[in-house]
Parts: sequence; structure tokens; C-alpha cells
Amino acid sequence: MPHPPSHLMQAYARQPVSFVRGRGAYLWDAQGVEYLDAMAGVAVTNLGHAHPEIAAAIAEQAGLLLHTSNMFGIAWQERLGERLCSLSSMQRAFFCNSGAEANETALKLARLHGNRKQVAQPQVLVMENSFHGRTIATLAATGNPAVQRGFEPLLPGFLRVPYDDIEAIRQAAEDTPGIVAVLVEPVQGEGGVRIASADYLRELRTLCDQHDWLLMIDEVQTGMGRTGTWFGYQHAGVMPDVITLAKGLGNGFPIGACLARGQAAELFSPGRHGSTFGGNPLACRVGCTVLDIMERDCTPQRAATLGRRLLAGLQDTLSNHPNVVAIRGLGLMVGIELDRSCKELVGLALEEQRLLITVTRDTTIRLLPPLICDEAQVDDIVTRVTHLLSPTTADCMATPAAAVQTEPAA
Ligand code: PLP
Repeated sequence: MPHPPSHLMQAYARQPVSFVRGRGAYLWDAQGVEYLDAMAGVAVTNLGHAHPEIAAAIAEQAGLLLHTSNMFGIAWQERLGERLCSLSSMQRAFFCNSGAEANETALKLARLHGNRKQVAQPQVLVMENSFHGRTIATLAATGNPAVQRGFEPLLPGFLRVPYDDIEAIRQAAEDTPGIVAVLVEPVQGEGGVRIASADYLRELRTLCDQHDWLLMIDEVQTGMGRTGTWFGYQHAGVMPDVITLAKGLGNGFPIGACLARGQAAELFSPGRHGSTFGGNPLACRVGCTVLDIMERDCTPQRAATLGRRLLAGLQDTLSNHPNVVAIRGLGLMVGIELDRSCKELVGLALEEQRLLITVTRDTTIRLLPPLICDEAQVDDIVTRVTHLLSPTTADCMATPAAAVQTEPAA
């Protein structure tokens, strides 16, 4: 039957599958076909689909109070701010609705920091290959020309350097007097699951201290237990000035947060920033429920253990695969880099393996299973991915990577 014309803007290349129900790590389409979820809505549904405690919290709060505006005290917002700050050793929180907005908040803090230091042309150091969102400012911060193309002129005030390269930062410090902050992901998720070394993040902290720059860590994808610690920067034992969160914080309910400490926590005064919906009672109660579950079930530790199992399983079966260039991972954030474009594997995985995966930077299969999955499901992901990359399927894969244009990030 022909589909009626869609009235949705064509911002997405969608798969010909749609789900009507989910539970834990599984999803079902309208025909009742079961799929295993190894992407968690792009690192969002960390506690799985239809979590009964989250569903109950949403239902109860919806019957009590959804929204009052930030003109009034919001007890759930206070509670969530306090709990996130205590987990991250930050001091103050600002709540919004998405990762891009959380990063916008951080970028506004960087501008105010520069303004306070009377820097006329403030610059934020950002990384090649990074992803920070789709708003005009976060797009300019993002290090992927494919997502920026057509939106020029890009917002000025960003200085780009190679990722995980401390010498490049030192050089920038010498050459550019107006730097006020650094914005960096501990693991570049959209950038192909690239992991910054602990030494790099530590030295970055030292340079930020020396130059009075804010160290701003984008934890939108890596945060909330994904990498096996509450936040990705904790692997390096550094203390950022600002962190940004979204995705897993609401397990699918939209919420973002920017947390700050020290001077960065005191930069906003009333009227300097705001959000109509940000931090409403429903979103913040969901955030608190997510934390209740994660603390009780030791979810970050679980992600670390399961992540090791997933990585080892993939290394066992795929490290000698002729098209596999590298297998990287931290916690339940794993990338399998191939020597060629492999975007078509997303559709093949659905069709042939009933498995949800993503592909980033055109050549890297990214696995982001829900953190509540069990050992058997992790092993099942390994089996299905291995079948997906079996010689018959690999034959269908396109041209070698060098001939392929980089595609926009998700
Ligand atoms: N920052 C990072 C590291 C991300 O991975 C993403 C989204 O993938 C964003 C920011 C943007 O988040 P959102 O899509 O919620 O605006």
C-alpha cells in the first residue's frame, strides 16, 4: 500500500520500522516482531524501556503537578540539583530540556567568565571530531563540517584543535590570548567512540588552572553511568568546572542539566538565563527516580562489568575480521571501526538480526545497549553483530572509507 505523503520535515533518514511497545532491552513492532535494543535511543533509555518505577513516577506526578514555571520554588528541582551536585562534586545546577541547551548554558557561562575577565574576543577551545548539538552555537562548537555545511556564517568565538592532543592545547594557549574555556567530551560518541586519555584530561585541568579557563565537560552522552562511572571524567580523576547532561538523565523523558562549581557556579544572576519548561516538577521527579534506581542497583558499576564483557566478546569474534580496523570501548559505549562506509548495516541489522545499532562517522558501528541489560543479552548482541559482519553481509558493504563523504552525526 503506498504511504500518504508525510507532513514531517525531512530532517531524518528513517528506517522502515516503527515500534509500538518496549520492555527492558526489547522492542516490538506492530506485527509483534521482537527486536534487541543495542542503542537505547542513542544513549537515552539507559534503564530500559517502560521501566515500571519510572512509569509510576510519571503517572503519579502527572496527576499532581506538571508545570508552574521557574517563577516559583520547585521542590523536585531542588532535590535533583542537590543529588546531581553531590554525585559530581559540583555546586549548582541549571535545568533545561536537551543536551544542546545544556551546552548552550555552558557556553553562556564561558562568555560571562570572559566578560568578567574583560576579554574582548573570548574564545572557547573545541575539538575536531566533536559533537555538541544542533543549535546555532552548539553547531559552531561541533567539529564536523558535514553538520555545519549550509548554516554559515558559523558563530565566531570557537578555536578548534585536534582531540586528545595536549600539545595542540599548549600551542593554542601561546598563540591565542582570548581563550576563556575548553569544551570537551571524555569519549567522542558521535565522533566514532574515541576515548580521551586520562593523562590528557589531567593535563587539560592543569592548563585550565594555569590560564584561568573553565574546564567544561560535555557528558550528554557519556554521563549517567554510560561509561561505567557516573560521569566519564571520573575515569581520569579530574574535577571539571562545568559539566553538561541530558540523554540518560530522564531515561526518555526530556531533561538537560548544566552543573557548575567554584566561580562558574556564581556567574548567573536573575535574568541572565532561563527556560520555560526547564526543571519542571515532572522532569525533575523523573530525574530523581532515575537516580534512585541507579543508586540502588549500582548501575554504573554494572555498566563497567557488562562493558568489559561486551568488548571482550567482540574482540574475541571480530578482531581478526578483514574489515575491522579497531574495536574501542568504555563501559557500555563501544565502537567497531571498519575500513569502509557501513551505514547500510543499520538497516541490515534490523532486517536480518532484529538488532538496533547506530553507525557514526560513516565507518563505525556504535553500540549503546541499555545499562540494565543482562549477561545473556550482552552475549546475544555479540552474536548478532558477528552474524551481521559475516562474510556474506560484509560483501554487501560499500566502497572503502577513503572514497566516502563523512555523513552528518545523529
Ligand atoms: N553533546 C553530545 C556529546 C551529544 O552526543 C549530543 C547528542 O547526541 C548532544 C550534545 C546534543 O544533545 P541533544 O540532541 O539532546 O540536543
